[in-house]
Amino acid sequence: MKITRVEIFDIHCPERPPWNPVFIRIHTDEGLTGVGEAGLAYDLGHSAAAHMIKEIAEAMLIGFNPFNTELLWSRMLRESFWGLGGGPVLYAAMSAIDTALWDIKGKASGVPVYQLLGGKTNGKLRTYASQLQFDWDKECTKLTQPQQYAEAALKAVAEGYDAVKVDPIVYDKDGNSSFDRTKLFTQPQMRLFGDRLRAIRSAVGPDVDIIFESHSLMGAASAIQMGEVIEEVGCMMYEEPVNYLNSAVHKKVAENVKVPIAGGERLYHRWDVRPYFEDQSIDVLQPDVGLCGGFTEAKKVCDYADVYDIRVQAHVCGGPVATAASLHLETAIPNFLIHEHHTYAIKSWNRELCIQDPQPVNGFFEVSEEPGIGIELNDEIVYRSPNMEVK
Ligand code: MG
Repeated sequence: MKITRVEIFDIHCPERPPWNPVFIRIHTDEGLTGVGEAGLAYDLGHSAAAHMIKEIAEAMLIGFNPFNTELLWSRMLRESFWGLGGGPVLYAAMSAIDTALWDIKGKASGVPVYQLLGGKTNGKLRTYASQLQFDWDKECTKLTQPQQYAEAALKAVAEGYDAVKVDPIVYDKDGNSSFDRTKLFTQPQMRLFGDRLRAIRSAVGPDVDIIFESHSLMGAASAIQMGEVIEEVGCMMYEEPVNYLNSAVHKKVAENVKVPIAGGERLYHRWDVRPYFEDQSIDVLQPDVGLCGGFTEAKKVCDYADVYDIRVQAHVCGGPVATAASLHLETAIPNFLIHEHHTYAIKSWNRELCIQDPQPVNGFFEVSEEPGIGIELNDEIVYRSPNMEVK
């Protein structure tokens, strides 16, 4: 089998201008196709990833046998030159390509991809409702008042979720998100952010898990300061308290807060996660299949995490292809913890991008049993966005 053509879609959602999933569809001489997604749907970088995919496709993909995923992965890492230096644009492109090749391998073998990764270790995947600060509803809304946070959590619980995630520090009392959280928080700030968290806890009761998300916004001292509230409310985990530019800072927070630390959506491969594993400063790894190098690398990173008793929740904040791919990984790995369902994943402008619409039922996901990853692009929608072709 040979790759004959590569399509790249840099999705622009008219209803949600900053939302840009990048999809790839790889065609073969046997008529099989595979889809993948680069994990840069939000904020900056999507168009760079789309063009990075194009460059790799031109240099390495046409004529290549899609079954040789390990060989291609090493070539993309080394022969791109920049792969050995790291960075999200190249790894997002590598991930999209690798995911699409596994989709082809599954279809050619007549089995879902999870079967190629080790079979069905986890039949039902416990799922949490993610990013309640944008509400849990048909539209995204900036939530500022503690009572609004409580109401958003109750909407998720009413749908069957028994775990939610919130970033209560992303908005100040007026809904602004551009302010410095690396300094120590003031008492009014501590009260506001704490009250949002406490409002959720008192609304959902003691049995629902709350994940505290903080998007690497804080410095070590303010992250430790916030740790007091997180311990008081009894959060399940403390996600991205600080950034990844200095692993020693991460270690300091982990040693000073008695709540499991989650992170990894901005770490990529085995070499990136190593310092966090060796100093035990991550308890729950959150690799993104669309960023860490696709299935080829995600499986290795998850197995490596298991050596350190680290559990896994794939980071998922993308289009339906990202969701579908993550479910195959999480179904197969023994150290799966919980699945992330983002509030963007329940919006119509995201759900219309593919033919299938993966959604959990009563707080649990089940993987597709279709060969490959079980998802196809909705051509009627995706061809409206900028797209490129390599052949
Ligand atoms: Mg996150």
